[in-house]
Amino acid sequence: MKLKAVMKIYNTLTSKKEDLKIPPSGEINLFVCGPTVYDYSHIGHARTYIFFDTLVKFMRKRLSIKINYLQNITNIDDKIIKRSAEENKNPQEVADFFEKEYINDMNSLGVSAVDTYAPATNYIPEIISQVERLIKKGFAYSADGSVYFDVRKFPEYGKLSHQKIEELKEGVRVDVEVGKKFFADFALWKASKPGEPKWDSPWGEGRPGWHIEDTAITEKHFGLRYNIHGGGLDLIFPHHEAEIAQMEAISGLSPLAEVWIHTGMLLVDGEKMSKSLGNFITIREFLKENSPQVLRYMVLSQHYRTGLDFSKKTIQMASSSINRIADFKQRLKEVTAQSSHLPWEDFAKTFWHELADDFNTPKALASLFELVTETNKLIDTNNLSQSDAQKIIDFIDEVNDILNILPKEESIPPEITALAADREKARTNKDFELSDKIRNQIKELGWEVEDTPKGPRTTKL
Ligand code: AMP
Repeated sequence: MKLKAVMKIYNTLTSKKEDLKIPPSGEINLFVCGPTVYDYSHIGHARTYIFFDTLVKFMRKRLSIKINYLQNITNIDDKIIKRSAEENKNPQEVADFFEKEYINDMNSLGVSAVDTYAPATNYIPEIISQVERLIKKGFAYSADGSVYFDVRKFPEYGKLSHQKIEELKEGVRVDVEVGKKFFADFALWKASKPGEPKWDSPWGEGRPGWHIEDTAITEKHFGLRYNIHGGGLDLIFPHHEAEIAQMEAISGLSPLAEVWIHTGMLLVDGEKMSKSLGNFITIREFLKENSPQVLRYMVLSQHYRTGLDFSKKTIQMASSSINRIADFKQRLKEVTAQSSHLPWEDFAKTFWHELADDFNTPKALASLFELVTETNKLIDTNNLSQSDAQKIIDFIDEVNDILNILPKEESIPPEITALAADREKARTNKDFELSDKIRNQIKELGWEVEDTPKGPRTTKL
């Protein structure tokens, strides 16, 4: 059956930009790797989650696709255990606290597209069942109460990261553990050490390995196979490779997910922003000085697959771009002419076309700014009609409903309107001392009056 293709997206599995196929059900199951909750999330995490949030909103609102968006929460892990030992707390308490804070941070950023958050420890029976099936099928072995996946039994291991098993190098983000037959084998189940959280299992008390939680969660919600898997590109190997090995070994079906989407890293001085390098800024720290929209714009101003350099300059550029669009929208509201000659729909078409082409947000935003420049020229000469201005406002609102990059519009309080009128009166009477005094008073209240050819305009500072 020929499936309808509505956008193109780059697939790490095939290394190609492909048509995204919509299944006959019209629904897409999407799984994105969630955070390990042992600390506050940083703006590198935000880069990945803002991208997926915007992509999903575009697919839902513009392409009318039903997306079931699932995200795991890694709430049992070595890093959580280490942090809880340092703070003399229970690991579950630490994980629960930072899980809540992660959700709070996402809410502050307007990241709202996820349908289901799935904490790993809610899926222990499903995890154990997957490990049992892997042992039964000969893909896994137990050693000293732990269970490992035998990667040499799965000849396709390496197909996502485009490596061959024999070329894998020891020590590349693969755990060094006793009892393993081969260095690249990975833990499905870890025997418990004193003081660590533990669950009963056929191999004794222990806890799940990192990779198995995701396949247990996706099997429960989506079944043996699904449409899209996402995450940062730092997770391609070994995490996503291991997921493929586990689930395809269990099901005998391939591929586990048809499309694999990976985001580039947020970088500081050319290095990945990460907890371990200590070069991170938490989302809440960032939001003390900047709006969520600045972070969203910063993320979307670069193509999602490239590295995104974080610096004061990127923040300033994002902030001034946002203000330019917001000012433009305000100008459009003041248009009064009756006829115009602007093919504004061409710019809008280009905008949506660029998003449908591997979600090219920088190119889409460039076409939006071309529209701003061309429209401003017409407004300057009073050649943009009110009805076209309204249509452009509607287009910007539709864009913002998906990208969420513009500051929240606040209606002007009556007190400010009254002060602005007093100031205008003082100005007409040429009492500039009084008009400046009132302008400062307005400023202290967080608003600004600007004199334009069409009269004074009041905006939020
Ligand atoms: P973690 O909690 O480290 O497992 O990361 C959660 C998600 O954030 C994963 O999809 C990572 O790929 C992503 N991530 C972590 N650091 C960065 C970064 N510096 N830039 C972009 N994404 C990141």
